[in-house]
Amino acid sequence: MELIYIVSSPASCLGQEPPEGAHVRCATDFDSLAPTTTRSTVFVVATGEHHESVRIVRALRRDPRTGLQPILTTSPLGDPDDDLSDGIVASPEEARDRGRTLVARLAQLDASLFAPDASDVLRIAGYMLSRAVEALAPRRLWSNQAFYAYPALEAMLGSAQLVASRLASMGERKLIRRATLVDRLRHCPACHGVHLNFIDCCPSCGGINILQKPFLHCFTCGMVAPEERFVEKGALQCPKCAARLRHIGADYDRPLENYECQGCGHVFIDPEVQAHCMHCGTPSPPEKLIPGQIFTYELTDLGGQAAKSGTMEDLFALLDTVNSVPPSYFMQLVGWLIDLARRHAEERFTIIGIKLTNLLELDVQHGKQTAAELVDALAQRLRELVRTTDLTTRTGQQMLWLLLPKTGRPSHEVVLARILALRSMIHRAEGGELDFETVVFTAPEDIIPGETGKLLLARLEGGFA
Ligand SMILES: [Zn+2]
Ligand SMILES: [Zn+2]
Ligand SMILES: [Zn+2]
Repeated sequence: MELIYIVSSPASCLGQEPPEGAHVRCATDFDSLAPTTTRSTVFVVATGEHHESVRIVRALRRDPRTGLQPILTTSPLGDPDDDLSDGIVASPEEARDRGRTLVARLAQLDASLFAPDASDVLRIAGYMLSRAVEALAPRRLWSNQAFYAYPALEAMLGSAQLVASRLASMGERKLIRRATLVDRLRHCPACHGVHLNFIDCCPSCGGINILQKPFLHCFTCGMVAPEERFVEKGALQCPKCAARLRHIGADYDRPLENYECQGCGHVFIDPEVQAHCMHCGTPSPPEKLIPGQIFTYELTDLGGQAAKSGTMEDLFALLDTVNSVPPSYFMQLVGWLIDLARRHAEERFTIIGIKLTNLLELDVQHGKQTAAELVDALAQRLRELVRTTDLTTRTGQQMLWLLLPKTGRPSHEVVLARILALRSMIHRAEGGELDFETVVFTAPEDIIPGETGKLLLARLEGGFA
């Protein structure tokens, strides 16, 4: 194990006694460290200067070559930057002991996770696995536009948007699963910010200068106005018809209206509520706000395997180039087509599910390169088969779905036969053959009442042995 102390000047290195079982290196220039990093490197950021330390910890997390290594500090970075480090240590011995557990866990991860071009998804999976983050918990940060944040992941990937989209895609691929619902938020439809000011407005002009006042209603002429306008020489008199208002219930009463707009003079009972975005200033009616949910996430077994093998994501991503759409969109579209086919009997479509059955074996027996070439060959062939109006998606790790609109029985047979013929075409001289099974659904014949797109895909996938 090597402890790399990152200090502000060479002089600060003196006095670091190397603890048993580790040697200590001092560095002042962290930029040159990445290429010399090994799986057993433990960084200790000890510049003694707060901003400099935060900058260095961020840069170390950001670079895939150093990002998953233990990064310790000798002084607190403050909230939320302490989330970026693996803890604060007081001595080289403590750094060695803290680092040891993490280094052992990092040894399980595939080397590709530490490559300069490592996949974001695998880095997140590797981080969760090595830190034993059973539930990836969002942090509450009032100064963050989205309010909740994952500081360590944001440092690794470089932006909150990227983290959100990668977590969503990992969820769809079943690499992580939602653990607990932490909060429900409403987002500004213009900028997606969550800092909103709910403010009462005039329903006529939208102005915010409204006042709540006691109102009176003259029975003689029907005038409704703030009470102050009825006061005339200490008595109540209607400003419109000049009637004397003596007895409540007989001459006048108190109407429900009790707001007056100081801008347009409109009087009303209930003000309108507007959500004013504190980020971009856009006013929105509350029903136009976009609801969002915040969860903690945990790594699935599949996600753990992906981090250890480093292969699955790369291999399967090759298939995403064939008219691919996200699974949620695909299912929504299937649901819509089902509804359409229920109403119009002539509306037909076909779904073909392709389950790759031996990709992991191929990877183990013939290596990643072979497996990748075979998947790439399949993707290329599929691209030739798929029409521009057809769509594909992936669910889980080995399921590929094709949606063929306007194609029903018996014309779907042609496409299916071509796909099945690929089996014998995709192999390599040195051995290794990509094997897959298919399942077919044609509408309207195979429609089950009440079934949604999501349920349908689950039913079809369940049909495989
Ligand atoms: Zn906004
Ligand atoms: Zn008004
Ligand atoms: Zn009156």
